[in-house]
Amino acid sequence: MTDVVVVGAGPVGALLAAELVRHGVDVRLLERRVTPGLGTRAIGVHAPVLAALEESGITERLLENALRVPRGEARSGDHVLGIVRFDRLSARFPFVATLPQADTEAVLADVSPAAERGAEVTSVRVRGTEVDLEVNRTDGTAVEVTAPIVVLAGGWTARPLVYRDVPTTTYPDRYLMSDIVVGDRPDADTAIVNLAPGGVLESFPLPGSMRRVVAWDAAAEPAVDLASVRVQRLQAALRARGEASVADAVETATAFGVRRVCAPRLRRGRLFVIGDTAHEVSPIGGQGMNLGLLDAAGLAPLLARWVHEGTAPEAALAAWEQRRVRSATRAGRLAAVNTVLGRPRRGVTDLARRAIVRGMLMPPLGRGFAWAYAMGLDAGP
Ligand SMILES: Cc1cc2nc3c(=O)[nH]c(=O)nc-3n(C[C@H](O)[C@H](O)[C@H](O)COP(=O)(O)OP(=O)(O)OC[C@H]3O[C@@H](n4cnc5c(N)ncnc54)[C@H](O)[C@@H]3O)c2cc1C
Repeated sequence: MTDVVVVGAGPVGALLAAELVRHGVDVRLLERRVTPGLGTRAIGVHAPVLAALEESGITERLLENALRVPRGEARSGDHVLGIVRFDRLSARFPFVATLPQADTEAVLADVSPAAERGAEVTSVRVRGTEVDLEVNRTDGTAVEVTAPIVVLAGGWTARPLVYRDVPTTTYPDRYLMSDIVVGDRPDADTAIVNLAPGGVLESFPLPGSMRRVVAWDAAAEPAVDLASVRVQRLQAALRARGEASVADAVETATAFGVRRVCAPRLRRGRLFVIGDTAHEVSPIGGQGMNLGLLDAAGLAPLLARWVHEGTAPEAALAAWEQRRVRSATRAGRLAAVNTVLGRPRRGVTDLARRAIVRGMLMPPLGRGFAWAYAMGLDAGP
């Protein structure tokens, strides 16, 4: 008999399923995709997530493939506005671990139960002591799946299955992104956020002498559909923002916009909602996947208690929900600040921005901001 059905085998659903199995719970993991997605998205795993996944051995596996980034710099062209020392924030994990999301997902898929692929959940109904799911399979058949507890971890596309009117902020900003091989350079272990007059350019180290570059592209313009145009525009942005030497290495580029969503409730009786389905923060904050992984790591032992003891640990579940909503709200606000700071600013408004960022990153405020950027407020049980 299945104790818990998890919908969605992305990083968040896979981690939850793995953790439930580790705690002796019988789990079914349903995934609509026939094969794992390969697109590149999250790259940074923060110290509180590494701490939360240490006991299961997942952290050790992630770190085998990851680069350890101990510091970040905010720049404006050639001027350094401030330094963020990740190595001073956590004694156990004094760095941000960077690796492509596909590698994180591969580690999680290895420890989680095999997903039943080609199974798309099309409706969810909470009914007394059970939750009913309608599932369409790729072979054209439809089945009903019923379980005592269901967790929806289907990413943002699954949100309409459970929420009708979650407030959503859509920002006008658009960005271009590429992961490129840059070879050796003196700042190989430094994450750089360049608040250039033409818009932000982020450049994060990745394993294998690579870097993730993200450039503000154009507000309120339609998405750039043509691959070659995206590459040209990213190359132009890199040249204009002081990274001419890496511009030629760009071979592909993706475009993305940003949204902010934070559902106020993550639970209705026996139905739970975690990860991007419940909250979405701008990738410019770099915390979306981390938030979801912390949702899953915190929820798994509570659901295991419920299954083994036969009664829901109500107080602990309410505290979990409150903590996770607070964390997502905080991440959303921080990402919003990043988005605004990263817009093009010229002349006096650029000077004002530089002064604000210098102030934010200087003691005593600096340590607090660094702590927030590295999700230090999520540290602890
Ligand atoms: C460009 C970009 C860069 C990013 N960078 C970062 C970063 O640096 N750091 C960070 O922390 N986050 C980052 N993020 C955010 C991160 O990618 C997401 O927060 C993360 O993927 C969310 O994981 P998830 O498992 O909740 O959802 P998803 O990764 O979307 O996985 C959901 C899974 O559920 C499946 N599914 C959906 N609907 C159904 C259904 N009805 N039935 C069955 N299965 C279903 C999907 O096929 C998918 O496999 C970035 C995002 C983008 C777009």
